[in-house]
Amino acid sequence: MESDDNSNAPSRRQIVGGLATGIAAVFATTPAAAAPDAGTAAVPAQPLQNPVGLYPKPPFDKQSQPWPGLASKMNPRPDHGEKSYRGSGRLAGRKALITGGDSGIGRAAAIAYAREGADVAINYLPAEEPDAQEVVALIKAEGRKAVALPGDIRTEAVCKKLVADAVAKLGGLDILVNNAAKQATQDSILDITSEQFDWTVKTNLYAMFWITKAAVPHLKPGSAIINTTSVNAYDPSENLLDYAMTKGGIMIFTKALAKQLAKQGIRVNGVAPGPFWTPLQVSGGQTQENLVKFGENTPMGRPGQPAELASVYVELASAQASYTTGQIYGASGGRGNP
Ligand code: NAD
Ligand code: MG
Repeated sequence: MESDDNSNAPSRRQIVGGLATGIAAVFATTPAAAAPDAGTAAVPAQPLQNPVGLYPKPPFDKQSQPWPGLASKMNPRPDHGEKSYRGSGRLAGRKALITGGDSGIGRAAAIAYAREGADVAINYLPAEEPDAQEVVALIKAEGRKAVALPGDIRTEAVCKKLVADAVAKLGGLDILVNNAAKQATQDSILDITSEQFDWTVKTNLYAMFWITKAAVPHLKPGSAIINTTSVNAYDPSENLLDYAMTKGGIMIFTKALAKQLAKQGIRVNGVAPGPFWTPLQVSGGQTQENLVKFGENTPMGRPGQPAELASVYVELASAQASYTTGQIYGASGGRGNP
């Protein structure tokens, strides 16, 4: 009996074979970050948890540390995801530089990036070495490369060297997180010295500009820049005049740079946290009066913990967010902004 196959029509085997080749071709061009997740099938179901009751609430104990403060000396100690963050290969093979990576929000990003498969360099102030060493150990525990780069970023020379060292020691750079900041509370403009104003602007704006300028020539298409701005960019605290001004600057720098770098395939986004429990707040960033009730005026009635921002920094760095640029991601416990 004559088969209904004819020599011009592709056989079922050819069709199936062709499909398989096509699928293989699609996967062959898929970036490394989208490689199959390791072991997600083994991840147990997570119980639903009410976010309101997840973490400590005010009132907090009065406490004060000299600037820049250590996470390890805070009470309660912030949760940076040390015990909780689980990765799934979303940043496999990436090389990241995070300023202020020793503590707080930067530490949470560093831990998450390492657990997502990235090598991570952190910058911090020399006085923060004890916090930095904890982060280095956590990154190494994931089998990733950890590069510790202490240095005060208030000069262009240090910023240039920081980027050069990160590139040399990581073997390249594809994620930059500008996260370091100075925050000093003052009730009146009359109390803000020129020295404080200069310190805040140098740390929060100039350093971001210098580090980004030094990094861009190294960033290939697909790379990501993430800047930490603040709810203060949108709804400034009256006692954080100079700081809020810089956070507004970071927000608009992010949006403008995103437009400029889109054609190079580099995405630029920002994160705008509300109140988060970090050393910056206990080392002059808040009055003692405000610290005791820190986070109370959010709908959640508590401050965020750095661990609660980790997935945001991962998302903005990951290849899955390929159409997201020039955006600011807010996390303020329900107060809105941006
Ligand atoms: P943090 O104190 O843990 O981190 C700030 C880091 O900045 C320090 O660890 C330090 O390493 C670094 N730094 C400061 N001055 C520096 C300098 N001259 N040279 C080098 N490094 C320097 O506090 P955090 O709250 O995690 O701060 C991280 C970012 O989050 C900052 O940009 C801050 O403005 C932003 N933010 C924090 C909150 C909050 O409530 N904690 C809210 C909104 C935005
Ligand atoms: Mg610190």
